Amino acid sequence: MSASGSVHGSSPSLAAPVPGVYRRDRQLLVQRGADLSRACLVCARPASGGPIVRRLSVARWLTRKPVGGGGGSIMFWWDLIAFIFSMVWFVVDYPTRRKRIVKIGFCDSHRGKYVGFRWGGLVAKVLGLPLVIVGLFAQHLPPGLEPALFVVGMLLFMTGIFLPWAAPRVRLASETKDGMWVEGAGTPFLELYPPMPTPPQTGHK
Ligand SMILES: [Zn+2]
Repeated sequence: MSASGSVHGSSPSLAAPVPGVYRRDRQLLVQRGADLSRACLVCARPASGGPIVRRLSVARWLTRKPVGGGGGSIMFWWDLIAFIFSMVWFVVDYPTRRKRIVKIGFCDSHRGKYVGFRWGGLVAKVLGLPLVIVGLFAQHLPPGLEPALFVVGMLLFMTGIFLPWAAPRVRLASETKDGMWVEGAGTPFLELYPPMPTPPQTGHK
């Protein structure tokens, strides 16, 4: 909506950083409700399109870091359990999550990636689950089709769980009174921000 095409006062290739945001390793300290959407979360170029509002949940303590390569079947069951727990948390966590808002933005190419991974994940889950159910409970299918449907459905469902993790996005790492530590931003984006100042020495700890 607002004209955010050109941000003056900074180099032409990178968007201006938001005041009050600090970096520590791969994490950023942001205020609840912070608007980081002027710069692409991945490459820090000026964002195109409107801000994306993210409500951060705390279910991450249950899930592992995305591993990239395929895990074994134990990993899959763990993911499935984690997924179910995260669904429960989604409800339990709702009242606080409403306040844990951060607005992010993307350049054109990274926005495409974000949308693709998220929708791809959703579609894979929506397609995979019915296949699993049909594979498990269907009665009059030709022999061999039921396990095939089950396996294909499981693979789709598993892909659906992993895909959104691969999308560029922010995750809640921890929370303090002052704000939220989030991770998931790209290195150029992280480098827009100054390191977290060390807390003043207070004599006794
Ligand atoms: Zn980008």
